[in-house]
Amino acid sequence: MRVIRQPGVMQRLARRWQREGVRIGFVPTMGYLHEGHLSLVQVARRAVGRSGRVVVSIYVNPTQFGPGEDLDRYPRDLPRDLRLCREAGVDVVFAPDDQSMYPGLPEGRYSTYVVEEQLSRSMEGAARPGHFRGVTTVVAKLFHLVLPDVAVFGAKDWQQAAVIRRMVDNLNFPVRILVAPTVREPDGLAMSSRNAYLNPDERRQATVLFEAIQLARQKVRSGPKPARQLKQDVARLVASRPRARLDYVEFFDSDTLEPVPQVRPGTHMALAVFVGNTRLIDNAKL
Ligand code: AMP
Repeated sequence: MRVIRQPGVMQRLARRWQREGVRIGFVPTMGYLHEGHLSLVQVARRAVGRSGRVVVSIYVNPTQFGPGEDLDRYPRDLPRDLRLCREAGVDVVFAPDDQSMYPGLPEGRYSTYVVEEQLSRSMEGAARPGHFRGVTTVVAKLFHLVLPDVAVFGAKDWQQAAVIRRMVDNLNFPVRILVAPTVREPDGLAMSSRNAYLNPDERRQATVLFEAIQLARQKVRSGPKPARQLKQDVARLVASRPRARLDYVEFFDSDTLEPVPQVRPGTHMALAVFVGNTRLIDNAKL
């Protein structure tokens, strides 16, 4: 397994693979890897086959964090990540630094961003202004450096995957986007690098996100329910956990992300909850 730090080196290697007809599968991550990330690596490997190459990027992208968010304390452990990638059969880890990705940021000669203006507006986009601008910008940059045929994203970040699909479609990136299912802990908590922030008490209460999804699922089983009513049910459930505070809950169409007034099986649900100071998100098709 090769570790590449320099964008130019990554891009030259990818161009060589392209000339040789080698298929490239790509998994972008912010590191501190868990089984969710590794499941995306397996999907990428299946997509490109044994003759293809799988690239994982590990980069905590500063432009997708807002002021006061957790950029500085985001968990990092590159040696462990490299070991996990090696064991998972990754061919290249691309782990650039801020100076090579955004030379001169904030006041220098970095001034170009990619903005998706429709799907980015609601939910995570509304709660975290500028977040998706950072995501689309870094993913566009990474696609230019890794030149993937296939890129794999997690359903855990459903809105992000929708925004990336739209960007790829609108800007004619020659990349096929695959979305892999959310990997969960045995008690239902979606795996996330941010789960490392939780103390034991918070960790127990963090199951409230998955419980909220199950509650909504059970309520619509007997017939459509007004979104307004289900939002109240979810708010009550979250409020019953002393360390938890609901940021938002939405019910929407899986593809368009348009909110729906009536919720039924097949409607998509997403929520964000603060557990202590840690902000967690989850979503599922009901
Ligand atoms: P992150 O490192 O959190 O930016 O995530 C990198 C990629 O892994 C994104 O496409 C995420 O959606 C995906 N991912 C994160 N957690 C999970 C999970 N529990 N199951 C599946 N994919 C995940």
